[in-house]
Amino acid sequence: MKGFTHGSEKEKDEARKLYLSGLSADEVGRRLNRNSTTIGTWCKDILIKYSQKGKHHKSPPPFTKEHRERIAKSKRGEKNINWKGKNAGITAIHHWVGRRKPKVELCVRCKQRKAIDLANISQKYKRDVNDFEWLCRSCHMTEDGRMNKLVHVKKGIGGSKVNEKIVIEIRKKYKKYNSQENLKIFQNNLAKEYGLSIDGIRHIIYRSTWKNVI
Ligand SMILES: [Zn+2]
Repeated sequence: MKGFTHGSEKEKDEARKLYLSGLSADEVGRRLNRNSTTIGTWCKDILIKYSQKGKHHKSPPPFTKEHRERIAKSKRGEKNINWKGKNAGITAIHHWVGRRKPKVELCVRCKQRKAIDLANISQKYKRDVNDFEWLCRSCHMTEDGRMNKLVHVKKGIGGSKVNEKIVIEIRKKYKKYNSQENLKIFQNNLAKEYGLSIDGIRHIIYRSTWKNVI
């Protein structure tokens, strides 16, 4: 066995990864030629997760916010092959939030119509469930001055400009849209094609912007 808790960050990371994969501290220790106490020291933060099952501590300390974040990250982030970090596309973020933000029956704004859109609040598409809300289509399109902030529609995410010609093109494509196809994917493809946000595309096809254009 190597000396007590000294180890390179690489080795510690390796231990944490193995530990999170479900091996016990003993098993990780055997693989890395370390004793289980050393592994326990390295994995202290994630250890708490397992201590809930009574494996390591009799009375586990309460979860701190940091612990929860680390555990959530290890489960949902690094281990998820779809993880793209901050640069994830808008659709990916929508899906990510969609899996985590509990669906509500009614629109959180008008509380009358059925909630169908997971709408981004800041327009910055943060990977943050609190930056999204469940809205009905109507509120999604017209709600609280967001319409006035539609600079992103005109400029687009990649700085591309929208003009009448493009609006007509997008609407023509939407007319041909075959409802068998997934609507979100269809809209996202348009967004990519024209360098716009998916909301920008939606505003165009649902005519909440560029109303004067046929
Ligand atoms: Zn509504």
